[in-house]
Amino acid sequence: MKLKLWKNYEPIPGVTAFDASNTGPTIADLQVIASTHASDAYPDARIAMVIAGLGTVGLTSKQSARLRTFLERAERDARADTPLPVTAIGTEGRCEGCSRPIIAGELVYVIEDGGGDLVVVHAASCAGEQHRDG
Ligand SMILES: [Zn+2]
Repeated sequence: MKLKLWKNYEPIPGVTAFDASNTGPTIADLQVIASTHASDAYPDARIAMVIAGLGTVGLTSKQSARLRTFLERAERDARADTPLPVTAIGTEGRCEGCSRPIIAGELVYVIEDGGGDLVVVHAASCAGEQHRDG
């Protein structure tokens, strides 16, 4: 979409998207655009986020500022919740991600599954081969 009265910023490729009925994930482009001229149809919502193939959200400057605040907070919270990897002792059972047995010495994450149970997943990619030092 290229409209004369809209300024288009560089798309952010590879965002994970779900549609309104929660179908997904699909990989899409996210693009921020700004209306450089007020329109009768949406005089205040002049900043928009376009998710290719899914839809568009229009924001006022005030809403955009709030979104930015929440995004910064969310980034901090997401980092804080990332567990530190620990070295497995070999009694952890199977990886929740790939179902392979956890081997002593592997780096794993021990995470709460949201229901109060602890699950163990490989800290490195489950699909890749294992790298074990000496
Ligand atoms: Zn795994």
